[in-house]
Amino acid sequence: KSGQVLLSIENVKVAYGGIQAVKGVSLEVREGELVSLIGANGAGKTTTLKAVTGLQPIGDGDVKYLGKSLKGQGAWDLAKQGLVMIPEGRGTFTRMTITENLQMGAYIRDDKAGILEDIDKVFSIFPRLKERRDQLAGTMSGGEQQMLAMGRALMAKPKVLLLDEPSMGLSPIMVDKIFEVVNDIHKQGVTMLLVEQNASRALAVADRGYVMESGLITMTGAGRQLLEDPKVRAAYLGE
Ligand code: ATP
Repeated sequence: KSGQVLLSIENVKVAYGGIQAVKGVSLEVREGELVSLIGANGAGKTTTLKAVTGLQPIGDGDVKYLGKSLKGQGAWDLAKQGLVMIPEGRGTFTRMTITENLQMGAYIRDDKAGILEDIDKVFSIFPRLKERRDQLAGTMSGGEQQMLAMGRALMAKPKVLLLDEPSMGLSPIMVDKIFEVVNDIHKQGVTMLLVEQNASRALAVADRGYVMESGLITMTGAGRQLLEDPKVRAAYLGE
């Protein structure tokens, strides 16, 4: 796959106080790709995603979406242009129902009929959400909340989806379901940047991957190639 570059992270540095969490990271995501960013706890993966969406100010470097710098643009501007993030810890509206959460995901749209159609689409991807459509999001399990977070993001009709640790804290069955959906969404043409500690699953679904260690990218390659790499296997797949 070699579509045009949709998202490029260019030599980005981020510090928390005096501590450099991201030390000059460059990464690109092309149209149609699923790119996985893997690495241990604290490697700086989440911080890199936050730098993309402006949640964390960039010390140096730049992030470009569709060729244009994202500096100074808010979450609304990004969503309007199709760049949508699903944060770690899901970020659902706990005191709203499933249906209301999905409607919130469509806040940048005003096509009522299309929105209703897309809620049905989300319900067909996640029948569990349909069963619980009137239940408050805060009363759902972690896996159900992850489904809801993904459903809500899809309601924005993303061109590029940023996913932060979707499998974190989930049961093996739920992890299977989440990766199955990630794969399906990708096949439907949504470009994705997936941050994961679950390296084997993340690389298995990825077109390309990047390995991050202590704030730097240390390896990159095709998903399958990284999955078979002895260094990656030793460090991230417990071999
Ligand atoms: P995890 O998988 O545990 O989320 P990560 O690779 O996403 O790890 P980050 O969350 O980006 O890593 O953290 C990178 C480094 O920055 C860590 O050392 C972390 O302690 C530090 N850090 C993250 N957020 C903050 C913050 N708000 N203030 C200070 N330091 C932070």
